[in-house]
Formats: sequence, structure tokens, C-alpha cells
Amino acid sequence: MQHNVQLNGMNSNRHVARPLVILVEWLTKNYYLGRTVVPALSGVNLEVRQGEFVALMGPSGSGKSTFMNLLGCLDRPTSGSYLLDGMPVSKMNANQLADIRNQKIGFVFQSFNLLSWMTALDNVELPLVYSGVSRSERLWRAQQALSIVGLKSRAHHRPVELSGGQQQRVAIARALVTSPSLFLADEPTGNLDSQTSVQIMSILQELNARGLTVVLVTHEADIARYAHRQVKFRDGRIVDDTGVQNWASTPPAKSSRVIAGEVAERRSPVSTDEKQVSL
Ligand code: ADP
Ligand code: MG
Repeated sequence: MQHNVQLNGMNSNRHVARPLVILVEWLTKNYYLGRTVVPALSGVNLEVRQGEFVALMGPSGSGKSTFMNLLGCLDRPTSGSYLLDGMPVSKMNANQLADIRNQKIGFVFQSFNLLSWMTALDNVELPLVYSGVSRSERLWRAQQALSIVGLKSRAHHRPVELSGGQQQRVAIARALVTSPSLFLADEPTGNLDSQTSVQIMSILQELNARGLTVVLVTHEADIARYAHRQVKFRDGRIVDDTGVQNWASTPPAKSSRVIAGEVAERRSPVSTDEKQVSL
């Protein structure tokens, strides 16, 4: 993150002093199937500030994934505007979007999306290869990211040798390794049992507590409760927004690079006990 804003005494009334990571205005997205127009988003407005933890909810087909793909610069809107860290990404072309994605976004999906022939470490390093980071720094940062998710000892395992929960933790490490401004997770626990889901949510909660802005999609109320704010979609629109709640304990924002350093310095049981995720 470029902006290391240090604000003291943060509470739920003062969070408006934080910079906006997401500013979305009247965003629409239509899909075209032959002559049929599918209006997936019909005028979405949303502001998310640095350090927030937001859960997007709503029934299947309500536009959550379409919205996440726009937030993650994986797709372009039909109309409307999206500022990410103040940058007008809705006006950017595909190449510019790819750069922004690499610099600013960490994205985790329901289906992990790891490259099966690569080790966990190689998977985590990959975004840094694209951004031209030197080999030694790549290795160091990928190891830090793997220790954050408690998987340093599995660095040389391939996805097939890891459980579902471990694969998702590798995917989280891969999403963190570029020190993104915004961490997006589309149903990250959708393929996991409830105990493993708790582990994954604990990791996201810890990352958020250390300053990372997190937007998560889930249809499970239990999962959404980990967030400070619940936003509901229906028929391509936001129909409910709780606003930020219980944010008093959130410390000032830090970059995930700093987070990695801190975690590395701790005497953490993660490498000796893979079952217990401890950050
Ligand atoms: P959710 O994630 O809330 O289940 P989606 O964003 O996936 O919802 O879908 C919103 C609407 O857009 C649905 O009606 C869905 O069928 C449609 N849709 C999503 N992706 C596509 C696509 N690639 N082509 C056509 N229609 C799509
Ligand atoms: Mg979806």
C-alpha cells in the first residue's frame, strides 16, 4: 500500500478520516447472450475505506461475483465509475487494468486456482515474477507470505499434496505477496468444511486487524459476521448496508509488507502445527 496513514484513537465515528480504497458510482454491467441482455448490475454505489472488512451477501445470481470481478479489475463495467485508491480504473484499457490488478489487488476464489504443476512457493512467487521483482526478493517475500498463513513447512508441496484448506491458504499467500491495497475473496470458504472455514476466516480477520482492506463474498451469515460491515445485493443492486460496526479496536493501517515482517519476527507455532492456524 502506498498510503501509510497513521491515525490514532481510531473508532467507528472517526473511520471516515481514512482514505477511500473503493469509490463506486452508478456501476452497471450487462452481459450479452445472443440478442438477450442480462443486466447483472443495475446501478451500484459503494464506498469502502482503508482498513474496512466488508461482507457482500445476497442470493445466487444477485450480481456479487460480477461486482467482485469489476472491483478486482478482471472485467470492465458497462457504465458508471470506479475509483480504486483514487485511480479511475473504469476508464482503463485491458493492459492498464492488468498492471493495476498486479499492483493493487489480491484476489482469492472459491476454487483456489493454484497451478497444479508448481509448488506452493512457486505459486506464491508468481505474481512477483509478473511484476519484475528479483529472484532473491521473490523468494523472501513468498516465504513471508506462506508463514503468514501458517504454511512455511509446506512450501515445496504441490497443490495435490495439500488439503483444501491448505490450498486456500496458499491462494491467500499468493494474493498477499504483492502487498495489495485491496484483498478480495469470492466465497473463499465455499468449498471447505466448517472447521476449515473458521481457520480461513481467522486468517482474513487477522490480516484485516493489521490494516488490510478486505471485501468478501459469502452467502453464509456465520461467515459474514467476521466482517465489520454487511452489504446485501439483490437483482444487481445494493438493498441493504449495515455501515461500519465494531471498528473501535482496529489499529492504524499497515501495509501487508509490514505485516509479513511482523509475522516473521514472531515466535509462531505455525510451522510446527499446521492444524492450528496461528498468526
Ligand atoms: P452471484 O455471484 O451473486 O451469484 P453473478 O454475478 O454470478 O451472481 O451473476 C449475476 C447475473 O449475471 C446472473 O443472472 C447470471 O446468470 C449472469 N451472469 C453472470 N456471468 C455471466 C456471463 N459470463 N454471461 C452471461 N450472464 C452472466
Ligand atoms: Mg458468485
